[in-house]
Amino acid sequence: MDMSLSPDQEDVRKAVRAWVDDVVAPPALENDRKERFPQEALDGLRETGFIGLSIPEQYGGGGGDPMSYVLFIEELGRGDANVRSIVSVHLGLVAGSIERWGTEAQKQQWLPSMATGAVLGCFGLTEPDYGSNPADLQASAVKQSDGSYVLNGSKIFITNGTIAGVTLFMARTGGPGARGVSAFLVPNACPGFEARPIHGKLGLRSCDTAELVLRDVRVGPEALLGGQEGTGIRVALTALNDGRMSLGASCTGLAQAALDTMVSYTKERHQFGKPVAAHQLVQALIADTAVEVDCARLLTYRVADLKTRGEDYALAASKAKYYASEASVRAANACVQAHGGYGYIDEYAAGKYLRDARVTTLYEGTSQIQQLIIGRALTGLSAF
Ligand SMILES: Cc1cc2nc3c(=O)[nH]c(=O)nc-3n(C[C@H](O)[C@H](O)[C@H](O)COP(=O)(O)OP(=O)(O)OC[C@H]3O[C@@H](n4cnc5c(N)ncnc54)[C@H](O)[C@@H]3O)c2cc1C
Repeated sequence: MDMSLSPDQEDVRKAVRAWVDDVVAPPALENDRKERFPQEALDGLRETGFIGLSIPEQYGGGGGDPMSYVLFIEELGRGDANVRSIVSVHLGLVAGSIERWGTEAQKQQWLPSMATGAVLGCFGLTEPDYGSNPADLQASAVKQSDGSYVLNGSKIFITNGTIAGVTLFMARTGGPGARGVSAFLVPNACPGFEARPIHGKLGLRSCDTAELVLRDVRVGPEALLGGQEGTGIRVALTALNDGRMSLGASCTGLAQAALDTMVSYTKERHQFGKPVAAHQLVQALIADTAVEVDCARLLTYRVADLKTRGEDYALAASKAKYYASEASVRAANACVQAHGGYGYIDEYAAGKYLRDARVTTLYEGTSQIQQLIIGRALTGLSAF
């Protein structure tokens, strides 16, 4: 689709697209079958410098603008949603939060090593009993007389949990509700910090998902993000605005991959003496998917544009995430349908697309939560 991109943005898209086609996409299906971590892709992200693409240049990153970031994530999502998820948590949720909320000392401490990928970030918000409602989370951070904090609690479904060097960890420092939650930058190597891998996922089988268990983990006052207690839920919600933009991009990429795969397969496969793509009902599947891919892309690019212009993009990000995630499930499902029985075996990518897409309507705010956010914005009435 033609969009008006700057020469720098075109260069990013071209470079990432070529690299994804060369390194990320080819082993994706085999990695999925074997639940094998995409190490070659992570090494390549470090070697190319893509791993730090959106971190400001002054901290050693690529200084990419929001649209470049979206193009990068879209291409990763097209190649392999597993690789995309490593990057969007690391860059969008964690590095982005440090950039937005951190003190200068915290930026100096973490961003240069995150820009090279020497340190990866993970985002510790969800708890076993608190998912859609993180304001009530129970992990605790108790301030000691010397200003340090002792952290206890567990987090579930944490992307990059076993491979990260730093966790953005939300814990309760004060009373109940959102105002009692603070954000900490916790080195994963701290004594008492345990990451337990979670296996048997429906999709995203080759990326790292973990339960984090913290028992009496002691961190200094410098670990408190921004040096201020009580901002944890605001930190999380602003991070999730970027996460939702990122998911819009990722789902656009995945839906594009499903569309491309569907078109090429149905042109090759013959039934009733002609390519199945020549049957009108198959073309309807293709046409509906193509329109949805464009809608998802345009909604997502709008978020990047609003962010670039310094405007509020929270609502637009919710809409993009909601639409693109649901559209990616429909696109992947259409891809399976167009493959007939071959869509149901893991020799083809169609099934992987569907399994990988499925989680996107669940995390970073389920589709129901996006509906509540959008409904609240339009009516002024909160259903939470
Ligand atoms: C593969 C994977 C990776 C993840 N990565 C991370 C990560 O890196 N960091 C992190 O912190 N979390 C992560 N998560 C967690 C994810 O964000 C949560 O699973 C998600 O927020 C939903 O929470 P829950 O699973 O507790 O579901 P619940 O909140 O228990 O929701 C269950 C159902 O109830 C519905 N529901 C809940 N409240 C309402 C309401 N008010 N109105 C209407 N319906 C409602 C939901 O939409 C859903 O359908 C990940 C999850 C997965 C599966």
